[in-house]
Amino acid sequence: MEPSSTEAGTPGPGLDGAHVPGLAEALPWLRLARHILVFTGAGISTESGIPDFRGPNGVWKTTDPQRYTIQSYVSDQSVRVERWRARLEGRFSDAQPNAAHLAVTRLQRAGLAPVVVTQNIDGLHQKAGTVNVIELHGTSSEAMCLDCARRMPMEVALDRVREGDEDPHCELCGGLLKTATISFGQPLVAADMDRGIDEARRCDVCLTVGSTLSVWPAAAVPVEAARHGARLVIVNEGVTDLDGMANLILSGRAGMVMTELVAAILAGGTQGRIQGPRW
Ligand code: NAD
Ligand code: ZN
Repeated sequence: MEPSSTEAGTPGPGLDGAHVPGLAEALPWLRLARHILVFTGAGISTESGIPDFRGPNGVWKTTDPQRYTIQSYVSDQSVRVERWRARLEGRFSDAQPNAAHLAVTRLQRAGLAPVVVTQNIDGLHQKAGTVNVIELHGTSSEAMCLDCARRMPMEVALDRVREGDEDPHCELCGGLLKTATISFGQPLVAADMDRGIDEARRCDVCLTVGSTLSVWPAAAVPVEAARHGARLVIVNEGVTDLDGMANLILSGRAGMVMTELVAAILAGGTQGRIQGPRW
């Protein structure tokens, strides 16, 4: 059963969008959408306790972004040791999905959001029950060899660190091991990006949640959707690089806004949505 995002005794979301400025006026066209592409960034997971990079409490406030590049990982052993140690401490490994992730799952189960494209590496969409998640920046649940591309569950690599190997290397080829995530400066998996762009061309609404839409090439997904005729809806606390392209900007916390937005869309029913040409 899908977990509920409302605590017992607290009121549920409004169905008319009245609690979220700008939403009520957009409902007539939002309720006509039949293929919504959800595109998420680090901001959807901050309410689960995982900091973003560029938000008010983001990682960049305390850490030098240069230490997050693939170049520094490959060339500087202290960066690798620090990264494995942080992974071992596992501060975020028990994070749970929040109301925004659950709202995305509700949208998908209603048949409106078959695919979710995320820049996140935290696996929280899947934990919330969402399927067909394209992880453009990889996943922190696996480690991989940078030379032979062999993959292994993160726990297997962490066991090596626990046993005292501060900078584990591949047992097969001697290459560097790294979380199976895309660091700055590292190319994305072309097939994942291609699928994301295909989905962007197929949707009639692209709904971005918790992203500054400033990390490339990932941001090409919402840009492509908008260029291809989809309406762009941005849910974010703070400005994004694509605000100028948006048909609707819903400012606020993703948990509250997504709960309201999805409830209001679904209150319009999912039957009889326009099957003809797109707007
Ligand atoms: P970002 O850090 O550039 O931007 C996050 C945006 O979300 C900011 O504008 C912030 O104000 C907003 N935000 C924060 N909390 C919010 C909330 N509760 N509700 C609504 N908005 C909120 O994130 P990005 O655009 O995803 O780019 C950062 C890169 O860092 C990504 O490529 C991603 O791979 C990676 N990253 C991932 C995670 C994760 O997996 N959870 C965490 C940090 C960084
Ligand atoms: Zn190897």
